[in-house]
Amino acid sequence: MSSDTVIKRRAAKAVSVGGVTIGGANPIVVQSMTNTDTRDAAATVAQVKALAAAGCGIVRCACPDAEAAESLRTIVRESPVPIVADIHFDYRLALASIEAGVAKVRINPGNIGGDDRLAEVIRAAKARRIPIRIGVNSGSVSREILANHGGHANAAALAESALEMVRKVEDLGFDDIVVSIKSSSAKTNYDAHMLLADRIPYPFHLGITEAGTPASGKTISAIGIGSLLMQGIGDTIRVSLTGDPLNEVPAAYDILRAIDLLPSAIRLVCCPTCGRTRVDLPAVAAEVEKGLPALETERRLAGKPGLRVALMGCAVNGPGEARDADLGCACGVNEGLLFRRGEILRKVPADRIAEALFELIRNE
Ligand code: SF4
Repeated sequence: MSSDTVIKRRAAKAVSVGGVTIGGANPIVVQSMTNTDTRDAAATVAQVKALAAAGCGIVRCACPDAEAAESLRTIVRESPVPIVADIHFDYRLALASIEAGVAKVRINPGNIGGDDRLAEVIRAAKARRIPIRIGVNSGSVSREILANHGGHANAAALAESALEMVRKVEDLGFDDIVVSIKSSSAKTNYDAHMLLADRIPYPFHLGITEAGTPASGKTISAIGIGSLLMQGIGDTIRVSLTGDPLNEVPAAYDILRAIDLLPSAIRLVCCPTCGRTRVDLPAVAAEVEKGLPALETERRLAGKPGLRVALMGCAVNGPGEARDADLGCACGVNEGLLFRRGEILRKVPADRIAEALFELIRNE
């Protein structure tokens, strides 16, 4: 990978969530949220396990009532990954979920029922040594802050609201904090983080709220999350998509892979094809793409670095266009010319290209 593709990350405080560290120089953690009824522990545990198997590092569960808080006890016990309780309005549910053993609590300090109640939640989190995620969104900005910004929950209002909440929690002698600001506008989201990033030391949880369906929500999430990650901002991400949360995990990985923030990732660089292409490149690309997840897992388990693999339709521009690739193939008439870091290796017939690339990847 060339040095100009390496993103310099903002140095955020490292915060441990049940053994998974967010911030510092740690890899960006992929999160998701269950959509089962939390009171149904068996269904929720099954979904948590499926999310964990897909690569989700931390899972959040809604905690809307006392029965859900009690159910969290079982979910926490049986989950292979840290569980975060999502609390709105009722501080007693935050206390009950902390008591149930969750690894983090997501609250909005402004809607938890007053300063005394917030202090009680913070005391409980401190006693259990668990962090608090301070969540701010367009709907949670106070009337006073809205008034200061012409009645709009714009980026400045969101940043001000988040800062106010952070100071409130800090004033209680607590700094085990993760901050999330969420807007359904990628631009507002971006601007709010840019306004806040230098003013607080805490890690950011990134996501575009109400992003949409799996078909449409991935694009706005890629822009909203990816733009900040490229500025070095963001330590954990969630791609919120309507429906099955299992769709969220690969979408998050796609964003991280696209900007070289996924350790051990194999990024396939592939030309669009044009009038010079003399090989069925889409078929070769599909075959290569199919084999990459297993190879990527092998690399991750072996602690190997990421790789960029180029598949180019022609030999004239191929190796040149793919100069930044670690490995690649530039195709001719029904054949491919393999290369490693710009150095030509050998020719293979078109139907052997995928296999040959897999072998080269394994040897890296
Ligand atoms: Fe066309 Fe060759 Fe460029 Fe592919 S690499 S788009 S075949 S010129």
